Amino acid sequence: MSMKKCSFCGRSEKETRLLISGNGAFICDECAQRAYEIVEESGIMAKNGASRNTPTLKQVPKPREIKDYLDQYIIGQDEAKRYLSVAVYNHYKRLLQPADDNGVDIEKSNIIMVGSTGTGKTLLARTIAKLLDVPFTIVDATVFTEAGYVGEDVESILSRLLQVADYNLEATQRGIVFIDEIDKIARKSDNPSITRDVSGEGVQQGLLKLLEGTVVNVPPKGGRKHPDQDYIHVDTRNILFICGGAFDGIERKIAQRLNTHTVGYNSVQNVRKIDKEDLMKYVQPQDLKSFGLIPEIIGRLPVLTYLNPLNREALRRILIEPKNSIVRQYEKLFQMDGIKLTFAEDALELIVDKAVEYKLGARGLRSIVENIMMDAMFEVPSTKKKTFEVSREYAQQQLDKSHLQ
Ligand code: ADP
Repeated sequence: MSMKKCSFCGRSEKETRLLISGNGAFICDECAQRAYEIVEESGIMAKNGASRNTPTLKQVPKPREIKDYLDQYIIGQDEAKRYLSVAVYNHYKRLLQPADDNGVDIEKSNIIMVGSTGTGKTLLARTIAKLLDVPFTIVDATVFTEAGYVGEDVESILSRLLQVADYNLEATQRGIVFIDEIDKIARKSDNPSITRDVSGEGVQQGLLKLLEGTVVNVPPKGGRKHPDQDYIHVDTRNILFICGGAFDGIERKIAQRLNTHTVGYNSVQNVRKIDKEDLMKYVQPQDLKSFGLIPEIIGRLPVLTYLNPLNREALRRILIEPKNSIVRQYEKLFQMDGIKLTFAEDALELIVDKAVEYKLGARGLRSIVENIMMDAMFEVPSTKKKTFEVSREYAQQQLDKSHLQ
């Protein structure tokens, strides 16, 4: 038997930590490392990164395709899915629009989603970013301090976006930023003359610059080590901003508006059509204004859509149906130990009941299941069991002794 040795440096297998075999040749770990460095230095990698450049419109999924994809991961919320799909598609059209087209300039379709916590706002934004393979980051609107866009806070958002884009500036500038809890920076009242909440407004002004498009100086990788080290200038003009907020109590503003409008002469017809159980679907930009967002911000978020509260049926579906559903994840965990995990129908009912009780939307589902499964995940891998069924009694018993309140 001939002795294996690295085809590059000639060292024998014994002299290396790792010898990788190929088609009639071998390479040791050190040569592989060196080869990687050569490739990296050659700049070919950068060209690979350039494949993240703006695609042609043919390559961009059509709104219907985007929605089909979202359907695999997100239950319900049809309206929001349609709005998002169109907004994202139009966003690409905007990026691809010819420079001078008789002065027609497609404006950015930043999005605002209104809906209670745990109804899927973040999940929607994240799933879209995954489909489009663009850099994506989530920030909490409460990081926008009065310092506004010059503050370190905004820098750090874009710095994170740069990081997930592997410092590809071009990709960064076409990324998606999800701004959560946008309602938290609303000023307290719509009436500027009496209870003017200046701080809320100052914060919103800072955010406005970011939405409109501004150049933010972001320190390079690993922070700015030398004073003369150049900042990276990130232009936010083509970054798509998706905002989300619960806007607790906005239904009251919507009801108020709908009531005042029904005073008109054709009110009788309109009144009949209003679904009082679900006022959210009537949300309009002026309701956001009543809630305390400044008109300039609302103007920069032209796509307004809502998410429905999740009812029992939706929660039940969320538990089992999405490609990445909680139940599927636990099945996989057990399957890796060679155990077939099943949940009894009435155990699932119990989980849904608890989630409704805790009022955490779908967010509660995971922690409930986690509590139910904890003991089993600890014990079962050390037994010879091939199956494990979670019955309602078992689930109840586990919940009773858990710390979930
Ligand atoms: P929000 O941003 O609206 O507060 P999230 O998108 O963070 O809520 O949802 C929290 C979790 O609940 C998600 O990670 C997801 O597992 C689940 N979830 C919420 N809504 C849905 C939905 N409509 N379909 C599937 N899963 C959902």
